[in-house]
Amino acid sequence: MSDAPEPDLDEDIAGLAEFSRAGPGITRLAWTEELRAAYQWLGGRCEEVGLRWNVDAAGNFVARWEVGEGPATLVGSHLDSVPNGGRYDGALGVLAGLHAIRLLKRRGFVPRAPIWLIAFMDEENTRFNTALFGSRAFCGEDITGLGERRDAEDMSLAEAMRPWDRDISQATRAAAVADVGRFVELHVEQGPRLEQQELQVGVVTSIVGMVGYRIEVTGEANHAGTTPMELRRDALCGAARMILAVREIARASKDTTANVGVISVAPASSNVIPGSCHFTLDLRASQDDALGQLEAVCRREIHDIAVTEDLQASLNGTYRMAAVPMDDHLIEVIETAAREEGASTVRLPSGAGHDAMLLARYVPAGMLFVPSRGGVSHSPEEFTDPEDAGRGARVLARVLERLSS
Ligand SMILES: [Zn+2]
Repeated sequence: MSDAPEPDLDEDIAGLAEFSRAGPGITRLAWTEELRAAYQWLGGRCEEVGLRWNVDAAGNFVARWEVGEGPATLVGSHLDSVPNGGRYDGALGVLAGLHAIRLLKRRGFVPRAPIWLIAFMDEENTRFNTALFGSRAFCGEDITGLGERRDAEDMSLAEAMRPWDRDISQATRAAAVADVGRFVELHVEQGPRLEQQELQVGVVTSIVGMVGYRIEVTGEANHAGTTPMELRRDALCGAARMILAVREIARASKDTTANVGVISVAPASSNVIPGSCHFTLDLRASQDDALGQLEAVCRREIHDIAVTEDLQASLNGTYRMAAVPMDDHLIEVIETAAREEGASTVRLPSGAGHDAMLLARYVPAGMLFVPSRGGVSHSPEEFTDPEDAGRGARVLARVLERLSS
């Protein structure tokens, strides 16, 4: 097969990008008019290829190719975006799924079991702090207690659902995972690895585990000019050493990351030695034992630095999520499909969370990545070459064909 872009897919990517709040990039938040209009548009595209669609009780868009018997193969991602995000995060996974179905239908392929295309509601978590709302409901988790979560305009989730004719108390009706046999999600890599290694398809092995901490470092506030350097108990200098230390620890092994994203100092005055400092720490690893080791080494190092600097450090856990391995069989199916399509592949973990990590708790789940230019995502600059997007969709079509033959 050629490496040419797929015209219909390119058209779809451009068409979907019309549904956004004004401003740079794409802003299509959960439960907004923009997202609802995008669903309507996508529904029309689905009807053109003979799919029937609806929006379920939790705001998931579901289009069905009802054919054959047995559990459905579910394919898709999400259409909600971060504020001023790009055209590809989530959207490409849904549109590539539609395009894969289109390719199969054009070929006259008849699946032995249904194929469903899905766009999950609120993957991004940017409006109501209700991450993976749609996939959780689809998998039968009880999300009805989230209705009072509020957005920046003080609107509750329950209120935001009303113009959609959806009621939070009924959202559990979206549970449909029992009719699904497996889930496959195509996504943009959102990192630089494929591009740097000039590879075309990433086969995801696992979605990273992560732990978060809030770390309080306590020293002593004192006069900036009259306190001799050797007598200072400077909480910020201690925290600075800790931050650089965890960076080195994470750099020392493959597939681990450490990030300090928030830091604050008190009393925060140019002529006062910082008496206290707090910072956040996010640690990630592709496997749980590696994460446990990373965590233990970081904790020890933070403690040792506190002792050396005559400071107190307390570590408070804020979140913890286990690594989620992708299904071995689906990893092989995706790899084989890519090979048949003539695409170069690499196995790699996903450093970001996705709907697939939720689905993987209930059914076998697999993911494939296509390259992100410059590794940029959650930005108007997000871009995936049309050739790479088209190839990804063709690989996805082969995956669906293999799973449905
Ligand atoms: Zn995404």
